Amino acid sequence: MQTIDTYNFEGKRAIIRVDFNVPLHKENFSVTDDTRIRAAIPTIKKVLAGGGSVILMSHLGRPKKNNDEKYSLSHIISTVEERLGTKVLFAGDCMGEKAAEMAAALKPGEVLLLENLRFYAEEEGKPRGLAEDATDEEKKEAKKAVKESQKEFVKRLASYADCYINDAFGTAHRAHASTALIADYFPNDKMFGYVMEGELKAIESVMENPARPFVAIVGGSKVSTKISIIETLMEKCDKIIVGGGMTYTFSAALGGKVGKSICEPEMFETALGILKKAEEKGIKFVMSPDALTCDDFSNDANTQEASVRNIDPAWEGVDIGSEGKKLFREEILDCKTILWNGPVGVFEIEKFSTGSRAVAEAIAEATQTKGAYSLIGGGDSVACINKFGLADKVSYVSTGGGALLEFIEGKELPGVAAIKK
Ligand code: AMP
Repeated sequence: MQTIDTYNFEGKRAIIRVDFNVPLHKENFSVTDDTRIRAAIPTIKKVLAGGGSVILMSHLGRPKKNNDEKYSLSHIISTVEERLGTKVLFAGDCMGEKAAEMAAALKPGEVLLLENLRFYAEEEGKPRGLAEDATDEEKKEAKKAVKESQKEFVKRLASYADCYINDAFGTAHRAHASTALIADYFPNDKMFGYVMEGELKAIESVMENPARPFVAIVGGSKVSTKISIIETLMEKCDKIIVGGGMTYTFSAALGGKVGKSICEPEMFETALGILKKAEEKGIKFVMSPDALTCDDFSNDANTQEASVRNIDPAWEGVDIGSEGKKLFREEILDCKTILWNGPVGVFEIEKFSTGSRAVAEAIAEATQTKGAYSLIGGGDSVACINKFGLADKVSYVSTGGGALLEFIEGKELPGVAAIKK
């Protein structure tokens, strides 16, 4: 397999799938968070330093049609130029003559950005503009047609370059034109970029050979959406800390009173099954004994602490309580590998964020003072660690939400498989 560190880029044009799906200001379309752009810079610079030229491709948002100005990658050019310190040419499309001409004319050291890949239905390979009352036959035909034109789309993108680099971990779980299909055109000239390499190494070091004890902290709102990750992690970890809205489904399944807290009665059996499995496997299953409860879902709410087994009927559990904070900290500090996915409370509301802050602080402390390896992943936990300013105090913050979860669950990611095969 080729790697970005050993490949000879001299005189080569590299097409790089980056993740420039960055948030834009609603009115002036400026980049409001450039984390993903900054993450891609080392890969781009490596190709340029090696004597190559670069064609950048990415999606941005979820446009439903071609040339939707709101989602144009033209909005990010100046930010990329600034972070890269190099002029960035813009093709204005992906498939047209202009893109082909500009790609062909690229000289070593030059960078060309294509327009938003999702301006084309072919990127995802899903039909667009189908009438609401389309028959199954019509849907089938439309799907067949877009799959057919997708082949041309992939071929065209591939024709711009001599080698392909996938550096977009966030979309690695999608079998799209730019994330997977294009790799077939570069059997000996495809590789991961540094973002991808870093992500894969971080997850593998946690999932394959973790230093023990290994604790997984899984928070979030519902058991139903986290069940699969909890089950996979139970095969790997020594201890599992469950927090967030899930707590109340477990508590109620055990006969507790949870008031107005989020609760999924249809998951009671599943929750009890998880507890039984943890016991059988000798995994320590940790939940907060107490909750911070509120009488209103806002920063102006009255709050009080209560046992998670006995919450007042009119109140709602929205964070872990003081006992839970102490317990979670002790359990985290005792571990050598830490994986965190999902906040343990409604961290978006300041008053209900102190439990998630305590978890983030304990993880940072374990990493900094006890040599633990910590991986933070999944959109909301990343938002948490950033909000508390602790991202540089943990070992690795993953850029991939869905991709990370699917990888942890043991699913093959098409974007990874396409490079490895
Ligand atoms: P998820 O996307 O499943 O990881 O869930 C993240 C969301 O769970 C965040 O938006 C949190 O506000 C929410 N959450 C965490 N704890 C609770 C809770 N006790 N009640 C309701 N929502 C919660």
